[in-house]
Amino acid sequence: MAESGLSKIGVIGIGVMGNGIAQVAAQSGFETKVLDVNEDVLARGMGIIEKNLGRMVAAYEKSGGEKGITEEQKGETLSRLSSTSKLEELMDRDIIIEAAPELPEVKEHINSDIAEKGYDKLLVSNTSGISITRLAAAYGKPEKFMGMHFMNPVPMQKGVEIIRGLGTSDETYNTIVALCHDMGKIEIPAEDKAGFAINRMWVPFVNEAIRIVEEGVAAVEDVDKCTLCLGHRMGPLTTADFVGLDTMLFICNVLEEEFGSPYKASPLLKRLVESGNLGQKSGLGFYSWDGFKAQGVNPDIARYRIK
Ligand code: NAD
Repeated sequence: MAESGLSKIGVIGIGVMGNGIAQVAAQSGFETKVLDVNEDVLARGMGIIEKNLGRMVAAYEKSGGEKGITEEQKGETLSRLSSTSKLEELMDRDIIIEAAPELPEVKEHINSDIAEKGYDKLLVSNTSGISITRLAAAYGKPEKFMGMHFMNPVPMQKGVEIIRGLGTSDETYNTIVALCHDMGKIEIPAEDKAGFAINRMWVPFVNEAIRIVEEGVAAVEDVDKCTLCLGHRMGPLTTADFVGLDTMLFICNVLEEEFGSPYKASPLLKRLVESGNLGQKSGLGFYSWDGFKAQGVNPDIARYRIK
């Protein structure tokens, strides 16, 4: 029996985060159904999950059982996973975890749609920076709503930031803490202020790394070599490419709106997003990408300078 008392999980969005959340939920024993906009997107996302589980089976075999999962565990996980493009099919869930794009109107629309369809159980958002209280208002049941901010890549990262909105009940909060434990995660409670805790620390760090590049203080690869000095596993610009530069810009703007000009997005970040270069997912960001492998620095960045 799960500590949370929950058994059926719905996930909205099978993108970068949604596929990781669905994978971990199913691996943790939950009957998991993922929703996305159409069957093609779902098939691609489910394919990524299957490939990731396959890698874990290979790791198990290579490590003599010390790491990864067995072929049987992979099969059990997949048997707990299903997908749909119809919101009605999520109405029997005990909880819905929304991982749709970081656009307030899209998330608000999803939340009000869920409420209109008659769902009245737990709903959480994986938002990186939109006010939880604002999203709760669109659902109309603030006591049953909060933020559950998983980190990328979800199967690897242990921490989950959990954010109460103004009206979130103690019961909801305690269930979400328990759900973190059920999913093998460690909860990091934070208040509903712009950027919550993690992105309020991390996004200004990345934004400054971008300014360092655009002012010519240090080159892209050298900025990322801060991993050699700070103990981080990945440099800020590589991480930004993985997160998505559109998401980075959105969070910078949210931080600036609440805390003022020190949080203003760097011009280079804005130019990259305007040009449609969003990082790994679009193939070009601070680096050129072939799938998940960086192929070298984006040549346009090398000559972009602002004094
Ligand atoms: P993504 O663009 O990779 O995936 C979003 C998915 O949502 C896509 O598959 C898209 O088809 C689907 N979608 C769009 N509109 C939809 C709708 N109306 N109904 C259902 N599905 C819809 O985005 P992502 O990077 O996975 O980010 C999702 C959320 O997680 C965002 O709120 C983001 O801020 C947050 N987040 C992202 C990261 C990261 O590193 N990428 C880290 C933490 C949190």
